[in-house]
Amino acid sequence: MAKTFAAGIEIPHYKEQTEELPVRELPLPHELIIPLRQHIGAPNRRLVSVGERVKAGQILGQSDAFVSAPVHTGLSGTVREIGMRQTLTGVQEECVVIDVDPVQEPVSWPEESLEELSRETILERIKNAGVVGMGGAAFPTHVKVNPTVPIDTVILNGCECEPFLTCDHRLMLEAGEEILAGARVLSKVLGGARVIFGVEENKADAIEKLSALLEKEKGMEIVPLAVKYPQGAEKQLIYATTGRVVPTGKLPSEVGVVVQNVATAQAVADAVLKQKPLTERIVTLTGPAAAGPGNYRVHVGTPVSHIIAATGGLKEEAAKIVVGGPMTGWAQSDLSAPVVKGSGGILALTAEITLTREEYLPCVRCGKCVEHCPMFLYPNYIGIYSERGRHDLAREWGAANCFECGICAYVCPAKRPMIDFVRASKRAAT
Ligand code: SF4
Ligand code: SF4
Repeated sequence: MAKTFAAGIEIPHYKEQTEELPVRELPLPHELIIPLRQHIGAPNRRLVSVGERVKAGQILGQSDAFVSAPVHTGLSGTVREIGMRQTLTGVQEECVVIDVDPVQEPVSWPEESLEELSRETILERIKNAGVVGMGGAAFPTHVKVNPTVPIDTVILNGCECEPFLTCDHRLMLEAGEEILAGARVLSKVLGGARVIFGVEENKADAIEKLSALLEKEKGMEIVPLAVKYPQGAEKQLIYATTGRVVPTGKLPSEVGVVVQNVATAQAVADAVLKQKPLTERIVTLTGPAAAGPGNYRVHVGTPVSHIIAATGGLKEEAAKIVVGGPMTGWAQSDLSAPVVKGSGGILALTAEITLTREEYLPCVRCGKCVEHCPMFLYPNYIGIYSERGRHDLAREWGAANCFECGICAYVCPAKRPMIDFVRASKRAAT
């Protein structure tokens, strides 16, 4: 039986629409809107001015703080504006708006050999390239791979357990060699740690491809995992692949593990071997209301509206546009908001498959949320106390340990907006 973790749920996958569609390029956007902060950590100060010409790969903003990541433009153009713009999470951030040159000069990134690079050089290049976790968390990678405790295991996360998303699946099929190059870099920077690829069993072709690549690699293996949500969450993935339990409130490094998404591994290879900054990613555009579903290579800073329009628009009135996965993503009110480093999907959803939260009910104490919570919390109490404004009690029931997987909201028969409750209590603590 395939390995997995306790609790969690089996949910419909909805991946058929795009899982067999190879990655395609999009026409160039007319503008890029690049938020100066796309990571967890200190904000960047801007390094460019309005009217300035910028080249592809040029840095736009950085910070001297250790926990930070610079941002770059992937396309040349002219800075039209610098100001506050709405981002995908609904928060306003300072953005550099670039009028993109309609014709782009090709840029080459010559490759170097990993053997010649020291640990310090590797860390510096990962930081300089602005690499952050591309599975959504956007934590700066140079910080994560430079822990203060020994690490013996790197887990590369290829689970992609959220419904609809297929960008990591396609990446594993189409860029397995680059992911493997990133795995070698991560192993080296972490002192020769072994590497485990964790991939859900519903991606049999990716497992086959990676297994073939790993045949001659020492210290690397692939672990097929049961198809269950949230199999790709850090603590659940660590338990499923190694049997190690990360204590409540602690980081994976506590048990000698670093977890990186497979797309991040590819970005690490680009950063270290080519000194290429992180300026693009694969985005899955899908959902019943999407006219041109597929997996697209997208420049960071591309407005969501451009991606939808360039792929044929919407087939019918979309009830909701969500960026990210349906369980953890963000519903959008302004489609001019740009794709950032951690954005893996754009979902154009119709009313039939969208939960409406307008008239949710009081908790009926069915216990389903408690039964399925992968963190073994009592989401019902967190919700009740948060709703009453007793965020202190919501936190006593563990709101801070919730990683917002969305299962409690998904299973709740009263359609209670559990993630909103959790987020309100977390915000009240800051
Ligand atoms: S309380 Fe948090 S971790 Fe538990 S099911 Fe709900 S969203 Fe997931
Ligand atoms: S699933 Fe909903 S109704 Fe059931 S106990 Fe949890 S919050 Fe209450």
